[in-house]
Amino acid sequence: MQKVLIAHPDKNFRYELHKSLVAQKYLVIEADNGGAMFTITKLQQPNFIIAADGMSSLSTEDFLRKLKDVNLSHIPIIVLTTRNNVPRNLLILEMGAKEVLLEPIHENELFFHLRRLNQPFSLNSEKVDNASNSNGSIAREVESRKSVMTTDTENKSAGSSTVRASNSSLLIRQAKCQFCKNETPLKLFTLRTRTMVTEADRFDIECYVNSIGQNEFCDYNLLEVGVCPNCYYASNDFKTFEVLGLRSEETTAFSEFVFTAFKKRSDDLKPLISKCGKTMFTENRSPEDALVAIDLAVYALNFLFNYDRLKYGLTQNEIFQYALKAASIADKANFVDIRNQKYQEAFQLGLMQMALKGELGVRRHSYQMYALSCLFRNKDNIRKYGKELFDALAKPSSTPQLRIKSREYADRAKKYFGWVEDEKHWSS
Ligand SMILES: [Zn+2]
Repeated sequence: MQKVLIAHPDKNFRYELHKSLVAQKYLVIEADNGGAMFTITKLQQPNFIIAADGMSSLSTEDFLRKLKDVNLSHIPIIVLTTRNNVPRNLLILEMGAKEVLLEPIHENELFFHLRRLNQPFSLNSEKVDNASNSNGSIAREVESRKSVMTTDTENKSAGSSTVRASNSSLLIRQAKCQFCKNETPLKLFTLRTRTMVTEADRFDIECYVNSIGQNEFCDYNLLEVGVCPNCYYASNDFKTFEVLGLRSEETTAFSEFVFTAFKKRSDDLKPLISKCGKTMFTENRSPEDALVAIDLAVYALNFLFNYDRLKYGLTQNEIFQYALKAASIADKANFVDIRNQKYQEAFQLGLMQMALKGELGVRRHSYQMYALSCLFRNKDNIRKYGKELFDALAKPSSTPQLRIKSREYADRAKKYFGWVEDEKHWSS
C-alpha cells in the first residue's frame, strides 16, 4: 500500500483529502506545519508528498533543499498553491517538485498525477493503456515485460486510450475517424497538463516558448491539428473525432449525407497531400506538415460551411483563427511569403466575418483585426477596430473574465501598435 503525506495548514482540507485518498486505497499521514512535514518525511518516508506552498516554520524552497541534504529528494512532491505565479511555480519545479497545482484542486487531477508519478518514464513504450474502469477507481494491471506495477487510468472525461509519446510533454489519444470509419485508430496529440510555458504573439495566437520542469519542449502549435491518414479529414476540435475512451455523447456527430459528400470530394485534397512529408502523422511534425494540416482543417470547415451554411456558420471564425495560426507558424519557421499571404488571408476573412462566438470572441476579434489593420496600415480599419477596443474597455464588463481580457488586449495593443487609451482620441 502506498503512503501519502498531506502537509497542509487547513484541517478541513486535510480531512476531506484524507478521506478521498483512503477511498483510493492509499495510506495517509498528515502534517500541519513545515517542521512536522520534514520530520514525518524523514521518519516515515512516504511514497508521495502533497504539500501546500507556504507552510509555517519552513518554506517550500527550504523543505526541498533539506530533502536533498538527507537524500530523500526522490520522493515525488506535488505542491499546492493559491496563486498562479508562473515564475514562482517554475522555481519550485526547478528545485525538484514534480507538479504544481492551483487550489482549489480537482481531486481527479490530483489522483491522475499520483498515478502518473508512480510510473517510471519509458522511452520505448508504445503500449496502449487499456486499464480502464468506468467508475473512476484505480484499475491495476501488471506490465509483464518489466514487472512494473502501473496504475494508469484516467478519469472518465480524459478517456483511457492514451499511448505514451516519446516526448515527455505529450500524450497521444487514439481516435476513429467519423468520416471514413477506418479501423486503424488515428493519433491525436495532446499536451500533458502544465508541461509548457506559452506566450501570446502580437495577434493573440498562443506560442509555446519553453517547457516546465523536467519535461521536454514541444511546439504544440505544429501538432494540435489531428489528421486522418486515410481520408485526410482534419481538425483541432477533437470532439469531431470518435476519441476512444470518451463517451459517445461528447462527440459532435455528422450525418451520413455529410460523410458521403466529403468522400466524393476527397480528390480535391490530393494536391494538398502531395506536399506533406513522412513526419506528418508522427509527433515530429515539421512546420511544412503543420501548414498542410491546417490547410486540410480549413478545407474540412469550408466543406461543412458550403454543405450547410446555417448549421456551420461558426466555422468562419475558426477559419480566421486558423489563418492567424498558420501565419504564426510560418513566421517562426521564416517562411516569409507564406506568413505574409496568411496574414493577408486572415485580414480579408476578418473583414467579411459575420458570425462570432460570444462577447469574449468579439473582443478578441476586435483586437486581432486592430493588429492586422496596423500590419497593413489600413487607416480606416485601424480607427474602426481601435475604437471597438476602446469601447470594450470603457463598457462595464459583465464578468471579471471579460474585464481582464479587455485590459489584456488594451495593454497589448499599446505595447505593440501604439494604441492610445484616451477618450478624446476615439470620439473626435
Ligand atoms: Zn478518415
